[in-house]
Parts: sequence; structure tokens; C-alpha cells
Amino acid sequence: CEGNPQVDAADMGKDLERVLIPEEELQAKIKELAGQIDADYAGKDLLIVGVLKGAVMVMADLARALHIKVEMDWMAVSSYGAGTKSSGVVRTLKDLDTDIAGRHVLVVEDIIDSGLTLSWLVHNLRSRDPASVEICTLLRKPDAVKVPIDVKYVGFDIPNEFVIGYGLDYAERYRNLPFIGTLARHVYGAE
Ligand code: 5GP
Ligand code: MG
Ligand code: MG
Repeated sequence: CEGNPQVDAADMGKDLERVLIPEEELQAKIKELAGQIDADYAGKDLLIVGVLKGAVMVMADLARALHIKVEMDWMAVSSYGAGTKSSGVVRTLKDLDTDIAGRHVLVVEDIIDSGLTLSWLVHNLRSRDPASVEICTLLRKPDAVKVPIDVKYVGFDIPNEFVIGYGLDYAERYRNLPFIGTLARHVYGAE
């Protein structure tokens, strides 16, 4: 885009430090997760819930890799907090359109870091009397082990680094990269 060279596709290469998970590995893992979900929810009526905006890519690819019939819905939440870490105090920006009472719900996330956002979300959804609530996350960071919630499907356990791409942003950019990468220092320094 004119006036914003950092979103120019040709420029993205130099903002990257390295590719952590290449596109082919992401897609293979999503097919593997879809196979498990197909088996676990066979004959059941499943609602998959994507958490905006980060989970958009995972939802789109996962949904297309599933063979069972699913409905898709979305929630948008925002963590209050002074710094860049989530505080656990969460605000609903967009609620589900669906009444989940009696339904099997699978929350689809991009990444679990502290787990505070997800822990709030799961409690919130469980209070609506669903038949079940499970979690599928593409990525999980080491701190997530401290969170007392059971994550049924995990794509990759990654190191404690800030990652971008495949839905994940830095200042709303890089979500459209088809792989997971880490940012070059000069990008942080420039902001
Ligand atoms: P938690 O409440 O688990 O600490 O925060 C989860 C949210 O923080 C994710 O949904 C994501 O929006 C953001 N987040 C955590 N780690 C990363 C990261 O490495 N990269 C990006 N882009 N976002 C992250
Ligand atoms: Mg997320
Ligand atoms: Mg973000």
C-alpha cells in the first residue's frame, strides 16, 4: 500500500527474523487435528467457535479439513490490562449469535500464552449450559501449563517468543502471512 511500506508484501521478508513453522507443517497439523475432531465428534452436533481475530486462519482451514458437519460462530473479546500482557479481565466485543445450551462447543484459538483470556472464555461459555466445551489451539506457549484448563487439541508447543503470521498480528499487521514467524528487531525498534 502506498504510504505504508510495511504492509507491502514485497517488504515483509525483511521484517521477519525467521520462519518458526512453515506453511506445509501448519497445513499438515491442521489436517491431523481435523482427523481427531472428526473421530471424537462423529455423530454429534458440533459448533466451532473462533475467537476473533487471531483464529480466523485456523478456523477457515480447520473447518475445510473437517468431514463432520459443523456450525461456525465467532466471538471477539478484549483483555483489559496496563501492559502488553493480558490481565484476565476480559470484555466481550462480539458475543455468539448462537444459543449454546445443550450444544457441543469447540473453541478454536490461535495461541494460548498466559491462558487468562481462554480461562475467562471457557467459564463464560460453561455458564450457558452447553453439552460440552472443549478447546483447540494451534499454538501453545510454556506459561500455559500454569492454567488449570484442559486443552483437548494442541497443534504446536512453541518457545516463549512473540510470533506473527497465520492470523497472529503485531500492531494489526502480518496476520496474512501463510506461516508462523518471529519478528526482526528493527520492527520493534521502529514502533
Ligand atoms: P493469554 O490470555 O493466553 O495470555 O493471551 C492470548 C492472546 O494474546 C492471544 O489470543 C493473542 O491475541 C495474544 N498473544 C499471545 N502471545 C502472542 C504472540 O506470540 N504473538 C501474537 N501475535 N499474539 C500473542
Ligand atoms: Mg486468540
Ligand atoms: Mg493481537
